[in-house]
Amino acid sequence: MKKVAVIGGGPAGMQAALSLVQMGLAPVIVECSSALGGKLKDWHQLFPSMTPAHEVLDELTGQIADAGVEVMLHTEVEGVTGQGVTLAGGRKLEADAVVVASGFDIFDARLKEEYGYHIYDNVFTTVDVERMLNKGAVALHDGSAPRRIAFVHCVGSRDEKVNQKHCSKVCCITGVKQAMEMRTLFPEAEIFNFYMDIRMFGPGYEEMYQSAQQDYGINFIRGRVSEASPTIDGRLQIKAEDTLVGRPMKMTVDMLVLLVGMKAGGSNAKFSAALPGGGITLSSSGFVAPVDLFAGNVSSGLEGVFYAGTVSAPKTIGESIDEGAMAALRVAEYLKGRK
Ligand SMILES: Cc1cc2nc3c(=O)[nH]c(=O)nc-3n(C[C@H](O)[C@H](O)[C@H](O)COP(=O)(O)OP(=O)(O)OC[C@H]3O[C@@H](n4cnc5c(N)ncnc54)[C@H](O)[C@@H]3O)c2cc1C
Ligand code: SF4
Repeated sequence: MKKVAVIGGGPAGMQAALSLVQMGLAPVIVECSSALGGKLKDWHQLFPSMTPAHEVLDELTGQIADAGVEVMLHTEVEGVTGQGVTLAGGRKLEADAVVVASGFDIFDARLKEEYGYHIYDNVFTTVDVERMLNKGAVALHDGSAPRRIAFVHCVGSRDEKVNQKHCSKVCCITGVKQAMEMRTLFPEAEIFNFYMDIRMFGPGYEEMYQSAQQDYGINFIRGRVSEASPTIDGRLQIKAEDTLVGRPMKMTVDMLVLLVGMKAGGSNAKFSAALPGGGITLSSSGFVAPVDLFAGNVSSGLEGVFYAGTVSAPKTIGESIDEGAMAALRVAEYLKGRK
């Protein structure tokens, strides 16, 4: 049976493996962390349906177990060719084709020093909020409830200063979702979302955004927050410009949530460098660049190497899963008739 190495056991890689099994191929998922699931492991409820993330995770991991897919955990891939992958330490895993589904990295909010992440208490990222929601422990540093919360959009996205020019696509809707979750947890709190543009691209997203304003009383302010600083009473003062009325503004809040972007996975540069001129090309944002963005969006241009999920651009879970299935189909077409 033909063997296919799948790099990464996130939603895209798991679906690729499941679809490969259905096509009579033998996938091996190579995952560098200690468990399958990718970022999905950390999420609480998924936009736009508010489905508990663990339900999607359990469904995918359950199917992987039932299908008997071979999984190598704690194993990092460092190089890729159409004949297999090179593992950390130099060991080779031979395969007839490879699906690269190694995903994205979270932007490190410490690089936007002006927002005080890891400097001041009560500055969090959307990732921190998902983890706190999962623990059922959303609160200020001292355990008290926030009375005023501000969300800052586009942190580490659309920002030349940190070399992240792309839009991360999912953070606007994540900010809307978390603002609604905060309203449910803290009915008395005032909640503000500071945005540059609101990008509600998916089904049901615009409706969720409308509902956040009309039913949940979330305030959306078009403006960029320039900095946060501590006040004498332990709160945070943010400075922003309301770009709709053209006025600078200051606001004191208890909790600041940074909508961190999706940045290109750290492995992409290694995969590209391992094969100089050999086919894995990167876009200017560092994501892998498929041969074209229409019929060839899972094709690398390198024989036997295919892409799935957020390794090539910010995407939702549904889109990543769809690409996993599509990459498997392209692998099966490629291997058909080969010895
Ligand atoms: C704060 C936040 C909230 C989100 N909430 C939602 C939501 O509610 N709904 C939604 O649809 N989407 C949401 N998303 C987007 C969602 O997380 C992605 O669409 C999804 O995780 C993409 O799956 P993936 O398999 O492409 O990548 P990942 O989830 O990044 O998985 C990639 C896997 O590859 C592994 N890997 C990486 N490099 C290597 C290597 N070299 N060797 C071996 N293994 C490797 C990683 O450890 C990881 O397990 C959210 C994103 C963020 C940032
Ligand atoms: S999705 Fe929204 S918050 Fe995220 S980068 Fe794009 S515009 Fe900014």
